[in-house]
Amino acid sequence: MGTAVEASNQLNSFEGANVSSVEEKPTVVFVLGGPGSGKGTQCTNIVRQFGYTHLSVGDLLRAEAESGSENGTMIENMTKEGQIVPSEVTMTLLQRAMKQSGNDKFLIDGFPRNEENRAAFEHGTGIEPVFILFFDCPEEEMEKRLLCRNQGRKDDNIASIRKRFKVFLESSLPVLAYYDAKGKVCKIDAARPVEEVFESVKTIFEPNYV
Ligand code: UDP
Ligand code: MG
Repeated sequence: MGTAVEASNQLNSFEGANVSSVEEKPTVVFVLGGPGSGKGTQCTNIVRQFGYTHLSVGDLLRAEAESGSENGTMIENMTKEGQIVPSEVTMTLLQRAMKQSGNDKFLIDGFPRNEENRAAFEHGTGIEPVFILFFDCPEEEMEKRLLCRNQGRKDDNIASIRKRFKVFLESSLPVLAYYDAKGKVCKIDAARPVEEVFESVKTIFEPNYV
Protein backbone atom coordinates (compact mmCIF):
# COMPACT_ATOMS: atom_id res chain seq x y z
CA MET A 1 0.00 0.00 0.00
CA GLY A 2 2.54 2.56 1.09
CA THR A 3 4.55 1.64 -1.95
CA ALA A 4 1.70 2.42 -4.35
CA VAL A 5 1.35 5.92 -2.90
CA GLU A 6 5.11 6.51 -2.90
CA ALA A 7 5.31 5.36 -6.51
CA SER A 8 2.63 7.84 -7.48
CA ASN A 9 4.31 10.71 -5.65
CA GLN A 10 7.58 9.93 -7.38
CA LEU A 11 5.84 9.89 -10.71
CA ASN A 12 4.31 13.30 -10.06
CA SER A 13 7.57 14.93 -9.05
CA PHE A 14 9.38 13.40 -11.99
CA GLU A 15 6.82 14.69 -14.46
CA GLY A 16 6.91 18.13 -12.92
CA ALA A 17 10.68 18.34 -12.79
CA ASN A 18 11.14 20.27 -16.02
CA VAL A 19 8.32 22.76 -15.80
CA SER A 20 8.38 25.97 -13.84
CA SER A 21 4.82 25.90 -12.48
CA VAL A 22 4.45 22.43 -11.07
CA GLU A 23 0.79 21.50 -11.02
CA GLU A 24 -0.01 18.50 -8.85
CA LYS A 25 -1.99 15.84 -10.60
CA PRO A 26 -5.24 14.82 -8.93
CA THR A 27 -5.30 11.76 -6.70
CA VAL A 28 -7.33 8.99 -8.30
CA VAL A 29 -8.52 5.72 -6.78
CA PHE A 30 -10.30 3.31 -9.10
CA VAL A 31 -13.09 1.38 -7.39
CA LEU A 32 -13.79 -1.93 -9.08
CA GLY A 33 -15.88 -4.99 -8.38
CA GLY A 34 -18.70 -6.89 -10.02
CA PRO A 35 -22.22 -5.47 -10.29
CA GLY A 36 -23.78 -5.47 -6.84
CA SER A 37 -20.47 -5.78 -5.00
CA GLY A 38 -21.17 -2.60 -3.01
CA LYS A 39 -19.01 -0.02 -4.78
CA GLY A 40 -21.55 2.79 -4.63
CA THR A 41 -22.49 2.19 -0.98
CA GLN A 42 -18.89 2.13 0.18
CA CYS A 43 -17.95 5.14 -1.95
CA THR A 44 -20.61 7.15 -0.13
CA ASN A 45 -18.97 6.16 3.18
CA ILE A 46 -15.50 7.06 1.91
CA VAL A 47 -16.68 10.46 0.70
CA ARG A 48 -18.17 11.22 4.11
CA GLN A 49 -15.01 10.35 5.99
CA PHE A 50 -12.15 11.12 3.63
CA GLY A 51 -13.23 14.04 1.44
CA TYR A 52 -13.05 12.43 -1.96
CA THR A 53 -15.40 13.18 -4.83
CA HIS A 54 -17.26 10.06 -5.95
CA LEU A 55 -17.73 9.67 -9.69
CA SER A 56 -19.74 6.62 -10.76
CA VAL A 57 -19.29 6.29 -14.49
CA GLY A 58 -22.49 4.22 -14.66
CA ASP A 59 -24.37 7.11 -13.01
CA LEU A 60 -22.77 9.62 -15.40
CA LEU A 61 -23.88 7.46 -18.34
CA ARG A 62 -27.44 7.12 -17.02
CA ALA A 63 -27.67 10.89 -16.51
CA GLU A 64 -26.36 11.46 -20.02
CA ALA A 65 -28.90 9.03 -21.45
CA GLU A 66 -31.74 10.72 -19.54
CA SER A 67 -30.66 14.16 -20.71
CA GLY A 68 -31.67 13.05 -24.22
CA SER A 69 -28.26 13.81 -25.72
CA GLU A 70 -27.28 12.48 -29.14
CA ASN A 71 -25.55 9.48 -27.50
CA GLY A 72 -28.55 8.75 -25.27
CA THR A 73 -30.08 5.92 -27.26
CA MET A 74 -26.73 4.25 -27.84
CA ILE A 75 -25.92 4.42 -24.10
CA GLU A 76 -29.32 3.02 -23.17
CA ASN A 77 -29.04 0.10 -25.59
CA MET A 78 -25.50 -0.76 -24.55
CA THR A 79 -26.10 -0.60 -20.79
CA LYS A 80 -29.18 -2.77 -21.06
CA GLU A 81 -26.96 -5.41 -22.69
CA GLY A 82 -24.20 -4.85 -20.11
CA GLN A 83 -21.84 -3.78 -22.89
CA ILE A 84 -19.02 -1.32 -22.41
CA VAL A 85 -19.74 2.09 -23.90
CA PRO A 86 -16.90 3.45 -26.11
CA SER A 87 -14.29 5.19 -24.00
CA GLU A 88 -14.51 8.48 -25.96
CA VAL A 89 -17.98 8.87 -24.46
CA THR A 90 -17.09 7.88 -20.89
CA MET A 91 -13.84 9.85 -20.92
CA THR A 92 -15.64 13.03 -21.99
CA LEU A 93 -18.20 12.63 -19.19
CA LEU A 94 -15.54 11.76 -16.64
CA GLN A 95 -13.19 14.61 -17.48
CA ARG A 96 -16.06 17.09 -17.44
CA ALA A 97 -17.22 15.85 -14.01
CA MET A 98 -13.68 15.98 -12.62
CA LYS A 99 -13.26 19.57 -13.73
CA GLN A 100 -16.68 20.63 -12.44
CA SER A 101 -16.09 19.11 -8.99
CA GLY A 102 -13.28 21.52 -8.11
CA ASN A 103 -11.76 18.70 -6.02
CA ASP A 104 -8.40 17.00 -6.52
CA LYS A 105 -9.25 13.59 -4.96
CA PHE A 106 -11.48 11.19 -6.84
CA LEU A 107 -13.03 7.79 -6.37
CA ILE A 108 -13.73 6.60 -9.89
CA ASP A 109 -16.35 3.88 -9.53
CA GLY A 110 -16.99 1.20 -12.15
CA PHE A 111 -14.21 2.32 -14.48
CA PRO A 112 -11.95 1.31 -16.22
CA ARG A 113 -14.01 -1.66 -17.33
CA ASN A 114 -11.61 -3.00 -19.93
CA GLU A 115 -8.05 -2.56 -21.08
CA GLU A 116 -9.09 -0.04 -23.70
CA ASN A 117 -10.78 2.13 -21.03
CA ARG A 118 -7.66 1.92 -18.91
CA ALA A 119 -5.32 3.00 -21.68
CA ALA A 120 -7.70 5.82 -22.72
CA PHE A 121 -7.74 7.17 -19.17
CA GLU A 122 -4.02 6.97 -18.57
CA HIS A 123 -3.12 8.48 -21.95
CA GLY A 124 -5.92 11.03 -21.90
CA THR A 125 -5.21 12.39 -18.42
CA GLY A 126 -1.62 11.36 -17.69
CA ILE A 127 -2.90 10.21 -14.28
CA GLU A 128 -1.88 6.89 -12.74
CA PRO A 129 -4.29 5.70 -10.04
CA VAL A 130 -2.69 5.56 -6.59
CA PHE A 131 -4.38 2.24 -5.97
CA ILE A 132 -7.35 0.13 -6.97
CA LEU A 133 -9.99 -0.75 -4.44
CA PHE A 134 -11.42 -4.11 -5.43
CA PHE A 135 -14.65 -5.35 -3.87
CA ASP A 136 -14.48 -9.09 -4.15
CA CYS A 137 -17.86 -10.81 -3.91
CA PRO A 138 -19.27 -14.16 -5.09
CA GLU A 139 -21.74 -14.02 -7.97
CA GLU A 140 -24.59 -15.60 -5.98
CA GLU A 141 -24.38 -12.84 -3.39
CA MET A 142 -24.19 -10.07 -6.02
CA GLU A 143 -27.14 -11.54 -7.88
CA LYS A 144 -29.20 -11.64 -4.69
CA ARG A 145 -28.41 -7.99 -3.92
CA LEU A 146 -29.18 -6.78 -7.44
CA LEU A 147 -32.52 -8.55 -7.53
CA CYS A 148 -33.43 -7.19 -4.09
CA ARG A 149 -32.51 -3.58 -4.69
CA ASN A 150 -35.01 -1.42 -6.45
CA GLN A 151 -33.32 1.57 -8.02
CA GLY A 152 -35.43 1.51 -11.15
CA ARG A 153 -32.45 0.52 -13.26
CA LYS A 154 -33.30 -1.07 -16.58
CA ASP A 155 -30.31 -3.41 -16.25
CA ASP A 156 -31.25 -4.89 -12.85
CA ASN A 157 -33.15 -7.84 -14.33
CA ILE A 158 -31.83 -11.38 -14.44
CA ALA A 159 -31.02 -11.35 -18.18
CA SER A 160 -29.00 -8.11 -17.99
CA ILE A 161 -27.34 -9.16 -14.71
CA ARG A 162 -26.01 -12.38 -16.26
CA LYS A 163 -24.60 -10.40 -19.21
CA ARG A 164 -22.95 -7.91 -16.83
CA PHE A 165 -21.32 -10.77 -14.88
CA LYS A 166 -19.93 -12.20 -18.10
CA VAL A 167 -18.52 -8.85 -19.24
CA PHE A 168 -16.99 -8.33 -15.81
CA LEU A 169 -15.17 -11.67 -15.94
CA GLU A 170 -14.03 -11.29 -19.53
CA SER A 171 -13.17 -7.60 -19.72
CA SER A 172 -12.74 -6.15 -16.23
CA LEU A 173 -10.76 -8.91 -14.53
CA PRO A 174 -7.85 -8.31 -16.96
CA VAL A 175 -7.72 -4.69 -15.77
CA LEU A 176 -7.42 -5.94 -12.20
CA ALA A 177 -4.68 -8.36 -13.25
CA TYR A 178 -2.80 -5.48 -14.89
CA TYR A 179 -2.81 -3.41 -11.70
CA ASP A 180 -2.21 -6.44 -9.50
CA ALA A 181 1.05 -7.04 -11.36
CA LYS A 182 2.00 -3.48 -10.35
CA GLY A 183 1.14 -4.16 -6.70
CA LYS A 184 -1.70 -1.63 -6.79
CA VAL A 185 -4.76 -3.74 -5.96
CA CYS A 186 -6.28 -3.58 -2.46
CA LYS A 187 -8.76 -6.44 -2.30
CA ILE A 188 -11.66 -6.31 0.15
CA ASP A 189 -13.96 -9.20 1.08
CA ALA A 190 -17.24 -7.58 0.06
CA ALA A 191 -19.59 -10.44 0.99
CA ARG A 192 -20.12 -9.03 4.48
CA PRO A 193 -22.45 -6.47 6.06
CA VAL A 194 -21.85 -2.84 4.96
CA GLU A 195 -20.39 -1.70 8.30
CA GLU A 196 -17.93 -4.57 8.43
CA VAL A 197 -16.77 -3.95 4.88
CA PHE A 198 -16.29 -0.27 5.70
CA GLU A 199 -14.04 -1.18 8.65
CA SER A 200 -11.72 -2.87 6.14
CA VAL A 201 -12.01 0.03 3.72
CA LYS A 202 -11.00 2.49 6.44
CA THR A 203 -7.77 0.65 7.17
CA ILE A 204 -6.77 1.27 3.56
CA PHE A 205 -7.61 4.97 3.43
CA GLU A 206 -6.46 5.99 6.91
CA PRO A 207 -2.70 5.60 6.35
CA ASN A 208 -2.98 7.70 3.18
CA TYR A 209 -5.10 10.45 4.68
CA VAL A 210 -3.18 13.71 4.56
N1 UDP B 1 -20.69 1.33 -18.27
C1 UDP B 1 -19.79 1.47 -19.30
N2 UDP B 1 -18.56 1.99 -19.03
C2 UDP B 1 -18.19 2.37 -17.78
C3 UDP B 1 -19.10 2.22 -16.73
C4 UDP B 1 -20.36 1.68 -17.00
O1 UDP B 1 -20.06 1.14 -20.43
O2 UDP B 1 -17.05 2.82 -17.62
C5 UDP B 1 -22.02 0.78 -18.57
C6 UDP B 1 -22.03 -0.73 -18.69
O3 UDP B 1 -22.98 -1.09 -19.66
C7 UDP B 1 -22.50 -1.18 -17.31
C8 UDP B 1 -23.52 -0.09 -16.97
O4 UDP B 1 -22.93 1.12 -17.53
O5 UDP B 1 -23.07 -2.45 -17.29
C9 UDP B 1 -23.79 0.10 -15.50
O6 UDP B 1 -22.62 0.46 -14.84
P1 UDP B 1 -22.57 0.60 -13.24
O7 UDP B 1 -21.13 0.85 -12.88
O8 UDP B 1 -23.57 1.57 -12.79
O9 UDP B 1 -23.04 -0.83 -12.78
P2 UDP B 1 -22.51 -1.79 -11.71
O10 UDP B 1 -21.71 -2.78 -12.49
O11 UDP B 1 -21.70 -1.04 -10.73
O12 UDP B 1 -23.75 -2.34 -11.10
MG1 MG C 1 -22.69 1.30 -9.21
